[in-house]
Amino acid sequence: KRLTTHEIRKLWLDYFAELGHAVVESSSLVPTNDPTLLLTNAGMVQFKDVFLGLEKRPYTRATTSQKCMRVSGKHNDLENVGPSPRHHTFFEMLGNFSFGDYFKKEAIQYAWNLLIHELELPLERLWFTVYTEDDESEQLWIDVGAPPERVLRFGKKDNWWAMGDTGPCGPNTEIHYYWGDLEKQTAAGVNRDDEYLEIWNLVFMQYDQKADGTLVPLPKPGVDTGAGLERLASILQRTDNNYDTDAFLPIMQRIQELAGHTDEERQAHLFRYRAIADHSRAITFLIGDGVLPGNEGRNYILRMILRRAARFGKLIGFERPFLAHLADTVIELMGGHYTDLPPKRDFILRTITEEEERFHRTLSTGLNMLDDLMARLREEGRSEIDGRDAFFLWDTYGFPIDLTRDVAAEHGFTVDEAGFQAALAEQKEKSRASSVQGKYAPDAAVYGELLGNLQEAGIVGREGVKHLIYE
Ligand code: ATP
Ligand code: MG
Ligand code: MG
Ligand code: MG
Repeated sequence: KRLTTHEIRKLWLDYFAELGHAVVESSSLVPTNDPTLLLTNAGMVQFKDVFLGLEKRPYTRATTSQKCMRVSGKHNDLENVGPSPRHHTFFEMLGNFSFGDYFKKEAIQYAWNLLIHELELPLERLWFTVYTEDDESEQLWIDVGAPPERVLRFGKKDNWWAMGDTGPCGPNTEIHYYWGDLEKQTAAGVNRDDEYLEIWNLVFMQYDQKADGTLVPLPKPGVDTGAGLERLASILQRTDNNYDTDAFLPIMQRIQELAGHTDEERQAHLFRYRAIADHSRAITFLIGDGVLPGNEGRNYILRMILRRAARFGKLIGFERPFLAHLADTVIELMGGHYTDLPPKRDFILRTITEEEERFHRTLSTGLNMLDDLMARLREEGRSEIDGRDAFFLWDTYGFPIDLTRDVAAEHGFTVDEAGFQAALAEQKEKSRASSVQGKYAPDAAVYGELLGNLQEAGIVGREGVKHLIYE
């Protein structure tokens, strides 16, 4: 079958509605019931309390198409975006859920019917994985019609799910799709991330894990599944990557139009195009859900993604803010389903442009400084930027270390990162001391502390935010 992204979403929701599932709206990207989570990263997030038995709903089965972001915490795909044809920061996760209602048998039957009969996926390209001790699921796949040699067993790393160190957990079963040469597929390749594509993950919440590690069977086991809408689209539209589907092509084309690039130029900058297209969806939806650019938590994440896109834009030739045009295209594409977006169009576009302008000001001042610096170093025959100079750029002009690193690399320079870290630590120490004395603490110190906090919380890495240079 050949279906558009919107048709796939609709088919999915209709299919499960027909099977007695309540069609529940996507929750916001900003989780309302989980203070430990920065952004919604799976369909089950809005149902967490229902699974834990803390909340009752008027239904025991549900289906959703959930807005998700995977740029922080346990799931961080940011650096994959662009080079990976299938990982996004923002994506839609299709799901069906059972809250103590049906379990493995129905879940596997529903999945089989949907994939084979509704979506008409070729069985000779599908692989099914189960947890190594989950005999039941393996048998159920065979019972519905999966060839036994296509049902594979894997261990904890691939086929076990847990909500946390304690609490609900259980085996999962995944469906993978192979899009390479038919004769070349092998069972050993299935968990590889190249021509094998994970499309759907069915989690069976079966046990309650106690602090001492014992698994107590849950009185009412549940089902939580997630499938990537953009990945399904790539299969049904016969493209080998998500960016050539109807969910992304208009955005990619818009970038090309605005940049005035030839097809060859677009191809030469492919990864940057993809990252920009991805990020423009993310920032549109984040702002749509009420997140504003800032220096903390999810506000920082929005700022970081937006600036990353702006930076890639600069690298492919944009001299002026352009992201609002892409947000406009995103709203056009998605506003039919996410009807809250069109009324917020002006606000979203304005917010993006303001932040982009802010970034350009920072960038041009910092870039000039950096140019002078590199010219001086070149005269002295040196190729490393002093850590203290990198720190000065950041401290005084808000010029992030990752940009310094990027720009330096483009000109054949390296940055003394240890020196930068040392200067940063020194200043943190100073600001700590000064705030104890109740003195004025400069903005950059606050920012530095924040970055430290985010790093400690695992939200950003020790190196700060990476701006990869795609060649
Ligand atoms: P992968 O192994 O490909 O990184 P995952 O195992 O991390 O995926 P799950 O947590 O099982 O993903 O999420 C359920 C489904 O959501 C996946 O099977 C996939 O189809 C989709 N998905 C996960 N991460 C992304 C992403 N970053 N971008 C687009 N789709 C995704
Ligand atoms: Mg992943
Ligand atoms: Mg996986
Ligand atoms: Mg998975």
